[in-house]
Amino acid sequence: MNYQKIREIVVEAAKKSNALGLIHGTSGNISMRDDNDEVVAITPSGIEYETMTAEDITLVDLDGNVIEGKYKPSSETPMHTAIMRARPDIRAVVHTHSLFATVMSMKGGNLPRATVPSNMYYPIPVTDCFALPGSEELADSAVRAIGKEGDVTLLKNHGLIAAGKDMDAAMTCAVYTEECAQVGYYAMAAGLDDFIPEEAALAIRKAAKGGGAV
Ligand code: 13P
Ligand code: ZN
Repeated sequence: MNYQKIREIVVEAAKKSNALGLIHGTSGNISMRDDNDEVVAITPSGIEYETMTAEDITLVDLDGNVIEGKYKPSSETPMHTAIMRARPDIRAVVHTHSLFATVMSMKGGNLPRATVPSNMYYPIPVTDCFALPGSEELADSAVRAIGKEGDVTLLKNHGLIAAGKDMDAAMTCAVYTEECAQVGYYAMAAGLDDFIPEEAALAIRKAAKGGGAV
């Protein structure tokens, strides 16, 4: 995969995340690494996605050093690259401040097992404490929470970070995590807590990882 291709995938995903309401303004960031694990294409810091083109996407190495780009890379580059270094199977990362994920990130623990599709990623944890945006502490807490097999974590008082083997997988994970946070929020607000049983969630996750339908 050449760098133009990963730039195009990132810019397309950025626009889609705006359209889906996952990212408002410039509050979030998206990255994708190339097949040789040498280059990561990432959204630039503080630039609106609406008029963004592939040329506006910044290229960094896996340590976050800029290789090429007319703009500064996202301030969350340390978090994206730390996840990619820790997990060679992860090729795309989506960070959002989507509404319900941000609300539910205040709660701590795991997201309630509120929806069937989100169980593909069960358990969905929340990082243990707030860390400043762009900090190594935030990057470390996200890597810890996602661990060796996770796909996504809520970032305490901040939002979510979802990962996948390609951009579609990372984006789908972000969408279903936000949906789960929304259903979980409304259920809890209504005093309901009869969530999906844990064994079922684990079975759904296992089927999804093995390619089974959900
Ligand atoms: P950037 O615009 O630098 O990507 O930052 C947005 C963000 O989500 C910070 O956490
Ligand atoms: Zn953020």
